[in-house]
Amino acid sequence: MNIIVMKFGGTSLATIEHINRASKRVEKECKKSKVIVVLSAMAGVTNSLVDQVSKINSQSDSENDLILSTGEQISIGLMSLILKSRGVRARTWTSWQIPIRTSSDYGMARIESISSDNIIKSFSTYDVAIVAGFQGLSQENRITTLGRGGSDTTAVAIAASFKASQCDIYTDVEGVYTANPSIVPNAKKIDFITYEEMLEMSSLGAKVLQTRSVELAMKHNVIIQVLSSQIDKPGTFVVNEDKKMEKELVSGISFSKDEAKVTISGIPDKPGVSASIFGPLADSNINVDMIVQNVSQDGKNANLTFTLPQSELIKAEKVLENIKKNNIFQTYKTDNKVSKISAIGMGMRSQAGVAKKMFKTLGEKNINILAISTSEIKISVLISEEHTELAVRSLHSTYGLD
Ligand code: ASP
Ligand code: MG
Repeated sequence: MNIIVMKFGGTSLATIEHINRASKRVEKECKKSKVIVVLSAMAGVTNSLVDQVSKINSQSDSENDLILSTGEQISIGLMSLILKSRGVRARTWTSWQIPIRTSSDYGMARIESISSDNIIKSFSTYDVAIVAGFQGLSQENRITTLGRGGSDTTAVAIAASFKASQCDIYTDVEGVYTANPSIVPNAKKIDFITYEEMLEMSSLGAKVLQTRSVELAMKHNVIIQVLSSQIDKPGTFVVNEDKKMEKELVSGISFSKDEAKVTISGIPDKPGVSASIFGPLADSNINVDMIVQNVSQDGKNANLTFTLPQSELIKAEKVLENIKKNNIFQTYKTDNKVSKISAIGMGMRSQAGVAKKMFKTLGEKNINILAISTSEIKISVLISEEHTELAVRSLHSTYGLD
């Protein structure tokens, strides 16, 4: 039995008109294969549910998940009604009916198992199974949700469990771009991108796919296609390294403005001080990213600069105040008008000179670099936020992506 997975995001389901259009794609595919459709909630629905819940209870509670998961039940029901009205043999599936078993981390549950029996059996009567994305069932038999954007993860997990031949993620863009097209008008759709590159891009704020869905696809070798639900043409395939023939030096430039910088000065230059600063930050679940340390000229004191997500700055300041009380350092200052620009590409592993090009380009544009970090396939620099657009555009052309 050939099974394909088709996932539609909220913007592709925004109105009945949209759902109708999406259902036509499903109808076309179900003439050739059995189809498992995974749906998000209609655009904006989950956000308004979150708003309502937050008026009562901001703590993580299993009732929150029960409420948040309802958006998907509406969209699967509507699509099923539309398909059935056109004579397509379709039925809906919520997480408990399949079931999709998850951990009990309400609000951020992890999928533990998906049983395929019920849906496979149903394929003797139905051609389309329409699954509510984003939701699962805990060991206590309560509804869970997989974190915002989690229906991507539902789709990939289903594709892996059912050994689907295709996992197509329909969205409002044509695929993954070499840079954000609203900043770089010359940005191009990428035909093939590796899981690693995609992970770097999605953790840097390119919100095309939930990061977890990419990790899962990589683990189970599920080829994902991200494509437009409006235009009928191939999208971006997210694949294993060996399936991507051309290994460009740089595949894309991404940026994140959600960064804050902390500079601590007057730190005695002796063993153990970094631990006494980063230890308490880690204990408070603060994600420190780039770190730069300089020792002062007299060799006695050091300065330390690091970055963290802007949303964690207030929490970090409280922790730093406490550390300061213990005389570990003299002063600190913060700055949230910074942004992180990254060049990402598999080709970096084997070719030198990527960093040099980046520094040269930024230098020519008079953009000061505040911190640098690198991995095998990524170079990131921290710069002042006002230069974000200029930096992204210049790097996009430096690496020949225009
Ligand atoms: N509806 C959920 C959300 O908005 C899940 C999803 O769209 O993937 O986060
Ligand atoms: Mg999404």
